[in-house]
Amino acid sequence: MSRAKHVLGISGGKDSAALAIYMKERHPSLDITYYFTDTGKELDETYHLIERLEGFLGKKITKLEAEEAGKSGQDPFDYFYKVFRGYLPSSQARWCTQRLKIEPFEAFVGTVPTVSYVGIRGDEDREGYLSRKPNIQAIFPFRRNIWSEDVIKFTLDNARIAHVTELYASELSGAHLDVIAGTLAKPVEHIANDRMGNARRQTEKLNRLLAHGVVPFNRAVFQLLKETSFPLGQEPDYALLENEDVLVKEDIFRLLRDSGVGVPDYYEPKEFSVGGKSGTYNRSRSGCYFCFFQQRIEWVWLYEQHPDLFAKAMKYENEDEGFTWAQGESLKDLIHPRRIAQIKAEALAKGKDRSSNKLLSILQEDDERACLTCFL
Ligand code: SF4
Repeated sequence: MSRAKHVLGISGGKDSAALAIYMKERHPSLDITYYFTDTGKELDETYHLIERLEGFLGKKITKLEAEEAGKSGQDPFDYFYKVFRGYLPSSQARWCTQRLKIEPFEAFVGTVPTVSYVGIRGDEDREGYLSRKPNIQAIFPFRRNIWSEDVIKFTLDNARIAHVTELYASELSGAHLDVIAGTLAKPVEHIANDRMGNARRQTEKLNRLLAHGVVPFNRAVFQLLKETSFPLGQEPDYALLENEDVLVKEDIFRLLRDSGVGVPDYYEPKEFSVGGKSGTYNRSRSGCYFCFFQQRIEWVWLYEQHPDLFAKAMKYENEDEGFTWAQGESLKDLIHPRRIAQIKAEALAKGKDRSSNKLLSILQEDDERACLTCFL
């Protein structure tokens, strides 16, 4: 009998949708509550994906929104847009993620011990948003290391070397245990003699332990958590301890297609031509249609593929106040035919390095803590 609440946030992106499919197929014993924090400004494709996902999961995806916005009868974004007196969010002042995504989620969870599943893939090197609330623990089922940074830090703390070795000893014996004990015995600071920082040394130590067996490592961590207030420490057992899967991008697309849920339509490349050459563009992430993280070519995609939404996005701008979605350029200027041609030509030139003109590359350089709640 589970004592913690298990939740999985659906952003409208491919990775969180694939994670929901994966959890239902691989871990049906877990009673997971699925939720979606609605800004009221998502693309229709996102809402369609959620409907298809509900059909596959056989349960409703709980829609969350900021309570005060709900009472006002306005779209959550529009409510806070007025509260902030027309000051548009930006990567420097990201009030939207905090007020529209993070706060409703934390209110929904309350003080209940909660395990939150996050769809960061095995081929990504990032952690993502972690709630600072101590009653929320993130788990990453697509990665070889399913544990969050705080759990790893706690487990590999030099002060716990002897204790973690004892926990391993209840699972292993003989030569295998000797190897693990030898790996554990090295304090993080002594892992390598080069100029690696302690964070990298900790990762190195973690990887060595995982290389000697993911399941024994998971079991040792789980036993350790039982002595703590981490939410999973309150569970009698945990299905993911046996999890050795590592899922990469191709697996995500396969899961979406094989399940019948499908890939969100905005990922589908659309053709464009400029200066006698042709290329493709698409939107690379979920989130609000006017999201300020978009690259110029994605704004052009919105203008040409969803002109109604582009027109709505324009209405939020106030050039006199300097409130524009894209830094230093209004949407009115961005859609001048010469400017569109220039943006497309630049996108074509960058085409060899396809990832460079997509939201993802921006996100990886920016504050991932907030972004992943919108785009995963
Ligand atoms: S998708 Fe973009 S605009 Fe919408 S809440 Fe997230 S960061 Fe803000």
